[in-house]
Amino acid sequence: EELETTGDMGSQIMVFVRLRPMGKKEDETGSRTCVRIVNKRDVYLTEFASETDYLRLKRVRGRHFCFDASFPESTSQQEVYSTTTAEIVEGVLRGRNGSVFCYGATGAGKTYTMLGTIENPGVMVLAIKDLFSKIRQRSFDGKHSVLLSYLEVYNETVRDLLSPGRPLVLREDKQGITAAGLTQYRAYSTDEVMQLLLQGNRNRTTEPTRVNETSSRSHAILQVVAEYQVKDSVNVITRVGKLSLIDLAGSERALATDLRTQRSIEGANINRSLLALSSCINALVEGKKHIPYRNSKLTQLLKDSLGGPCNTVMIANISPSNLSFNETQNTLHWADRAK
Ligand code: ADP
Ligand code: MG
Repeated sequence: EELETTGDMGSQIMVFVRLRPMGKKEDETGSRTCVRIVNKRDVYLTEFASETDYLRLKRVRGRHFCFDASFPESTSQQEVYSTTTAEIVEGVLRGRNGSVFCYGATGAGKTYTMLGTIENPGVMVLAIKDLFSKIRQRSFDGKHSVLLSYLEVYNETVRDLLSPGRPLVLREDKQGITAAGLTQYRAYSTDEVMQLLLQGNRNRTTEPTRVNETSSRSHAILQVVAEYQVKDSVNVITRVGKLSLIDLAGSERALATDLRTQRSIEGANINRSLLALSSCINALVEGKKHIPYRNSKLTQLLKDSLGGPCNTVMIANISPSNLSFNETQNTLHWADRAK
């Protein structure tokens, strides 16, 4: 007899690390590399006291981490997609919800990984492209629907990025928790999606002092609901699955409030979603019965897409520069705990 493996085993979360290339500014300020990836798995973090020590490989502190896979700076968007998300998309096509997160400090490469650029589209666009092509191959009658919602959680307020306006209210019904009035955009091809998401990203909240930059406190969530029909020897079966792709707020602030809890309300709020996500992930990994989804807007929205056997993926984004040593170390520790 086959053993039931989904009971109280705890959920497995696949954890990946992506190292971005050194930026122009970092290069110009003479910053050094403090991260090395070996064999597409091992991450070595090393701190040197000075340039001379760096050249002599005399390290001050460092650590070794190992993940399901680690991507060096040369890794293509397609390879990141294939390794991290293609299997989740397969699950969604079989009716199993799944989610992929990008976690990391501001500037570490989360938005590049999730959204990417027109020349190098990221996980969001590549996932939708894959969904379309597989649905077209497998659909019994050619009919299908792919519905997109793109929303933001900022300061524990939920906003529609495809139709900006008033904050949305979360409602709970038989279907689960949904944002009332949220746009569900019906997509017909991959080509239109990049423009839609770029526009959505421009609608993300910006800091008052830096109007051209997305706020590091903003979480962006793309939800894709795919529906199509397959036929076995006798029956036509409708398959519906939901994919959630999340570009999280910068993790540097989570720590700031974690250590000093008496912060401004705004500070406390962004962290509420990020800290609540951490608590849920830790509870899932430890196989706890109670998962504290209710503690934040982000975790409420993702309640039906987190947990279960292997349907959650975390991509931890890091910078190679020694100027970001502490943030990189925090991100790697966090990712290590999510395994
Ligand atoms: P975050 O969203 O985490 O704040 P970004 O994705 O905006 O960070 O990345 C910061 C900068 O680094 C951007 O200019 C981005 O284009 C660049 N960048 C990030 N990751 C890569 C990569 N893998 N390859 C090339 N450029 C990258
Ligand atoms: Mg970003």
